[in-house]
Amino acid sequence: MRNPVKGQNIVIIGSGIGGLSTGIILSLLNFHVTVVEKNPLPGGLMRSYRRSGFDCPVGVHYVGALGHNEPLGKMFQVLGIPVDELFTPLGQEGIIDRYIFDDLTFDLPTEIDELENNLIKTFPKDTAALSTVMKNLRDISRRMRETPFLLYPNDPFQNMDYYQPMGELLESLHASAGLRAVLAVPCQLIGVPLNDCPILFHHMVLAGYLFSSWKLKENGGKMTDVFVRRFRELGGVLILDDGVKKISFADGRVTGVLLESETELSADAVVAAIHPKVLLNLLEEDVIRDTHRRRIQGLIETEGVIAVNAVVNAAAHPAVSHNIYRLHRDEDGIIKDGCFYQLRESNAPDSNLLSIITKSLYSDWRRWENTKSGSRGKDYEEKKLGIAATLLKKAEEIFGSLHDAQILDVYTPLTLRDYVNAPEGACYGAIRSSGQLLKIASLNNLPVPGLCFAGQNAIAPGVMGCLVGSFDAARRIVGAERFAKEIIRV
Ligand SMILES: Cc1cc2nc3c(=O)[nH]c(=O)nc-3n(C[C@H](O)[C@H](O)[C@H](O)COP(=O)(O)OP(=O)(O)OC[C@H]3O[C@@H](n4cnc5c(N)ncnc54)[C@H](O)[C@@H]3O)c2cc1C
Repeated sequence: MRNPVKGQNIVIIGSGIGGLSTGIILSLLNFHVTVVEKNPLPGGLMRSYRRSGFDCPVGVHYVGALGHNEPLGKMFQVLGIPVDELFTPLGQEGIIDRYIFDDLTFDLPTEIDELENNLIKTFPKDTAALSTVMKNLRDISRRMRETPFLLYPNDPFQNMDYYQPMGELLESLHASAGLRAVLAVPCQLIGVPLNDCPILFHHMVLAGYLFSSWKLKENGGKMTDVFVRRFRELGGVLILDDGVKKISFADGRVTGVLLESETELSADAVVAAIHPKVLLNLLEEDVIRDTHRRRIQGLIETEGVIAVNAVVNAAAHPAVSHNIYRLHRDEDGIIKDGCFYQLRESNAPDSNLLSIITKSLYSDWRRWENTKSGSRGKDYEEKKLGIAATLLKKAEEIFGSLHDAQILDVYTPLTLRDYVNAPEGACYGAIRSSGQLLKIASLNNLPVPGLCFAGQNAIAPGVMGCLVGSFDAARRIVGAERFAKEIIRV
C-alpha cells in the first residue's frame, strides 16, 4: 500500500497482539475498526489457556524494553496499555537468562555494560571480536531508544551493514566457537539460526532484553483482556468465531471481506495480521501477480516447537527468577538442540508452573497432518506424551527430581498450525533470515491498494516486533505526515 487510505472503515484480520494493537492505534486515529477472529476467543499466540485449573502460557514468556522511555514501553504508552497491570520485572537477582552448555554456563545480565564484562571475562581471547559486537549493539540500542517506534530516519533499519548475517560477521572476526554459541541464543528467540540471522534482528532482541526484562504478572488471558478492553473503549468492534474467507476487491481496490458466516463487511482498507500464506488463500488469483504470489508461497518458515506445561510442588521447586536454556553446540559453535525452561509461580499458591519448549519439526508430525486438534488419535497422544516424559526427565538435570510433576498439556507444531493458522506450525512466521530478507521485505510493499500486513509477519516477530509492525501498518494507512503529527506527538 503506497498511499494513505481514503475512508474511515478498516477491517483487521486476526486478533493476536498484532491485530489488536493495530486496531487500537487506528481507533486512536478515529477510524472505525473491526477486528475479525476465527477463534471463539481473541488473542492468538498472546493468549494463555487453562488446564486443570492452571493457566498455561503460549507465546508470551518474557518481553524486553517495557520500561518508561524504552521502545516497547513507549509503544504501550501510546496504546494506553498499562504495563504495571500486566507485567513484573524479570531477573531480580541480576540475571535474565542462564545458558547452560556442556562445558560452560553463561549468565545474561540485566545491563549492557555487565554483558560486556561477562563476555570479556568468559572469552578473554575474543576481545577484538567483542569490541565490534559491543559497538554495534550499543549503536542499535541507542537508535532504538532515540527513534520513535523505530520507524523514522536514523532508525536501526536504515543501516544496511546491519543486514549482514551475524554468523558471517563473527566468522570474519575469528570469534571462538564458545562466543558464537552464546551469541546464537538471542537469534533463537526469533527462530533464525546465527549463521543466517541479520545483525539487526539479533541485536534488537538482545538490546530489548538488556533495556529491561519482564514477565507477565498473571497470564496471557489477562493480557488479551486488557488489549480487548482498550480496543473496545476506543469504539473498536471485535467479531469472534467467524474467520475471514475472502477479501473482496473492485476496481483494483480492497472493498471489504466475506466471513465464514457469509456476513459481508465493507472496508476502505484491510490489515492482514495473519501469515502471508494464509492471506494468499483469501485473495482471488488475479489480485496479486504470479511472481509475487510465488514469492510468498516459497517463503521458508521458522521451525515449530513442542511445549510442555507441567505443575510442580512449589516447596520442592521454588520459582526461578531467570529463564534457563540448556543447550548443545557443535565444535563450530552452532547450537544443535536445546530446551527453554521457565519455572514460575502458578495461579495456585502451593504449585509452580514449569514450561519447557524445544524445537520440533513439522515433518515429524506429518502423519497427523490431515487431522484436527482434539481428534488426532491415540498414537499422536502417545507420541506427544512420550516426548514430554523425556523432556521432563532431561529437566531433572537442572531442577532435581520431578517425579511429582503433573503434565498439564503438551502442544506440537500441529496444535499451533490449527490454533492460529500458522503454516507448518511456524512459531514466528516466515523466517527473517538474511537469505530471505528481500522476499520478506517485499511483503511490506504489497502492490494492492488498501491492503497491508501487521503482526509478526510485517516487520519482526515477538511482542516488540509485532508492535513495530502495528505502528508501521497505521503509518501506511494514514500516511507518514499524519502519523507523525498525531501519533508521534501523543
Ligand atoms: C511457543 C512460543 C513462544 C513465544 N514466546 C515469546 C516470548 O516469550 N516473547 C515474545 O515477545 N514473543 C514470543 N513469541 C512470539 C509471539 O508470541 C508472536 O510473535 C506474536 O504473539 C504473534 O502475534 P500476531 O498477532 O502476529 O499473530 P497471532 O498471535 O498468530 O495472531 C493471528 C490471529 O489471526 C487469526 N486468524 C488466522 N487466520 C484468520 C482468518 N482467516 N480469519 C480470522 N482470523 C484469523 C488467528 O486465529 C490468530 O488469532 C512466542 C511464540 C511462540 C509460538
